[in-house]
Amino acid sequence: MPTPLCADGKLRPTYEDIHKLIDRSAAYIKADFDPDLMVLISGGGLIPGRIMRSFLKRPSELDPTRLRNIPTQAIGLSLYEEVAGMVEGSIGKSVTRTQWISEKALLGHKDPSKKVEEGKDAGGLVGKKILIVDEVDDSRTTLQYAYQELYNDVRQALSSMSEQERAAVPATKFACFVVHNKRNIKKGKLPILNENNHIAGDGAAPANNNQPVERIENGIVEGIRYYAGEDTENEWIAYPWESEDITEHNRLAADARKKAGQK
Ligand code: 5GP
Repeated sequence: MPTPLCADGKLRPTYEDIHKLIDRSAAYIKADFDPDLMVLISGGGLIPGRIMRSFLKRPSELDPTRLRNIPTQAIGLSLYEEVAGMVEGSIGKSVTRTQWISEKALLGHKDPSKKVEEGKDAGGLVGKKILIVDEVDDSRTTLQYAYQELYNDVRQALSSMSEQERAAVPATKFACFVVHNKRNIKKGKLPILNENNHIAGDGAAPANNNQPVERIENGIVEGIRYYAGEDTENEWIAYPWESEDITEHNRLAADARKKAGQK
C-alpha cells in the first residue's frame, strides 16, 4: 500500500510503516545480495539501518545455532544541513563529510591469512558485500558521493596489498537500500546494475528478477545493486524521527490513510 498524501501535501510514514517496508525489502535483499556489512549514512540512514540489521542476521561462526548481527558502520554526510565553516551558497550543492570509516578499520583485512576475530572486523570493507543505507534518494547526490568515496577507499586499500594478498580476498560488492526513492530526475549518477528491477512499491520483489551480470575490475564488482522500499513522487517526506510531536504525526498519517481508503 503506497504511503498516502497528507492534507498539507507531505507524506508521513509512521514508524510501523517504515518497519514493515524494511521487513519486506530485507527479505528480498537477503536472498538477492545477503550483505556482509552495512554502511549507514548518518543521520537519516541510522534508524532504517538499525531496523534492517534485525532482519539480516546470520548464523554465528562460533555457534551456528545462534544468529548474530552483521557489522555496521556509520558515515556522516551533510547536504542540506548547515555545516560549521561551510561557505554560504555551497549549502545544498555539495556533500560534506562529517564522519568517516577509520583508515585503520579499512585496512583491517590487509593480511587476509589472519583470521579476524568474529565481531571485530566491523570496518573491513575489502572483500565484503557492502550495503549502503539511507532513508531517501532524492537528487542522488548523497548516494553518488557515498558510493564513489567508499569505492575509492576499497580501491586504495586493494592497491596497497600484494598480488598474492589480493588474490586471497573475494571481490568487493556494493548495494544500496533507501526506504524511499523519489521518481525524479537524478542529479547524482549511480552505475545501477539492476536499473529496471529494483524492489519498490511495498518492498515487493520486482517482476523482472534477472540477475545482473557482474564484471569484476581490480577486485571490485563494477556497479551497484539498488533497492528501494517504496517509490514516491516528488513530495516532501516527513519522517517520524524528525517529528517533535509523534502523536500528531501519527494522527495526520491515520487521517491520510482513511481519506485514501486504506486501513
Ligand atoms: P539527495 O542527496 O538524494 O538529494 O538527498 C539526500 C538527503 O536529503 C537525505 O538523506 C535527506 O536527509 C534529505 N532529503 C531529501 N529529500 C527529503 C525528504 O523528502 N524528506 C526528508 N526528511 N529529507 C529529505
